[in-house]
Amino acid sequence: MSFSFDVAVVGAGIVGLATGLKLQEKYPGLSVAIVEKEGAIAAHQTGHNSGVIHSGLYYRPGSLKAGLCLSGYDMLVAFCREHGLRHEICGKVVVATREEELPALEELHRRGTANGVPGLRLLSPSDVKEIEPHAACIRGMHVPSTGIVDYREVAEAYARVFQSRGGMLLLRRKVTGVKADGPSSLRVFCTGGPISARALINCGGLYSDRVAEDSGMKPPCRIVPFRGEYYRIRPERGTLVKNLIYPVPDPRFPFLGVHFTRMVDGKVEAGPNAVLAFAREGYGKTSIAPLELLETLRYDGFWRLVRRYWKNGMGEMARSCSKVLFAKALRRLIPEIQKDDLLPGGAGVRAQALGHDGKLLDDFVVMEGENMVHVLNAPSPAATSSLAIGAHIVGIAGKIIGGWQE
Ligand SMILES: Cc1cc2nc3c(=O)[nH]c(=O)nc-3n(C[C@H](O)[C@H](O)[C@H](O)COP(=O)(O)OP(=O)(O)OC[C@H]3O[C@@H](n4cnc5c(N)ncnc54)[C@H](O)[C@@H]3O)c2cc1C
Repeated sequence: MSFSFDVAVVGAGIVGLATGLKLQEKYPGLSVAIVEKEGAIAAHQTGHNSGVIHSGLYYRPGSLKAGLCLSGYDMLVAFCREHGLRHEICGKVVVATREEELPALEELHRRGTANGVPGLRLLSPSDVKEIEPHAACIRGMHVPSTGIVDYREVAEAYARVFQSRGGMLLLRRKVTGVKADGPSSLRVFCTGGPISARALINCGGLYSDRVAEDSGMKPPCRIVPFRGEYYRIRPERGTLVKNLIYPVPDPRFPFLGVHFTRMVDGKVEAGPNAVLAFAREGYGKTSIAPLELLETLRYDGFWRLVRRYWKNGMGEMARSCSKVLFAKALRRLIPEIQKDDLLPGGAGVRAQALGHDGKLLDDFVVMEGENMVHVLNAPSPAATSSLAIGAHIVGIAGKIIGGWQE
């Protein structure tokens, strides 16, 4: 069976689904398909994350991340309310546990304030104890607007609305190449047979650079997969955490550091760390995709990153292999946590874009091509920001779609 659409979106993660929704809202008559290689939606990053609705604290003022997180937050919370999805605005504390973290905590407060995050408050240790009685700190910050949600449930709701508006979800179709087929038509090659589309939007997450290359683009970065591993806190010790307890992140990295998160189902998780994954969808410590690993090892940017941060990388690997070391890192936040409080949890793999210069790209990155838009970097807080990212992408795609309507 051959299909023809106005727009084909690659990837049924939260960004692809939100983009589908925003296309339908802005252009109601458009035929849109979301093409997904797995047999279900939300199979990768969207279904394996911390479930935090980020407030917009961490991001450089003026960046896409800052703007889209703040507006995406409002859109997501409104969507959850409208569709009756489990979520809770429970707030979080960020705790500085060492003198040398104080400047970074103050910088976070400045950034958050500049970004318009409401209600931020620097806290003394006794203030922190009132919110999180078991957290240790020398200073803290309360972020009351942070929330929790289950992003798989959000993605399922996006998919339901998308399909109810006539959108087509094509599962088990891996996109393997895209070629121009006339001035305003593309042939999208995928398992199960090619489809035709007038425009393509690539939201391929861990494979977004690959999809871009297979479409004839030269992305300025490569996706390097970083696995984030979690432990679950033993239920009877879950009372050590009321809501969310975060460390002050190392400003050199886009990762937030292992933290405690209460999930919407009431369970408490600790993590995620950030270790190099040996496969883009490598959820286990021993998952290896030799060709993908080779690809990472051949990338010049990777070795520049390693030269700069090999010590941090080794530390993360050690914590990944040793529960004792993982528990030690967590004890900085909650001194009462013991190794035996940690039960095996899941893992997620972050699609993190790395430049040739060895720098981890901090902001969201979107690249335009002929009748195409490629989302090349959509790491955290892209789940929080998904509807705003979708609207942003549709704004860019409008240059293509507007041309059809002239
Ligand atoms: C450990 C971890 C914790 C996180 N915590 C948070 C958090 O608390 N809050 C937050 O806001 N964000 C968080 N994030 C980030 C967030 O989960 C991601 O930014 C978001 O899910 C990205 O969505 P996506 O749609 O771009 O990618 P994905 O969900 O990975 O979806 C991409 C889809 O594309 C499909 N695909 C790939 N290649 C092809 C192809 N060739 N053909 C067809 N389909 C293809 C894949 O199968 C996949 O389904 C976290 C991420 C991780 C990994």
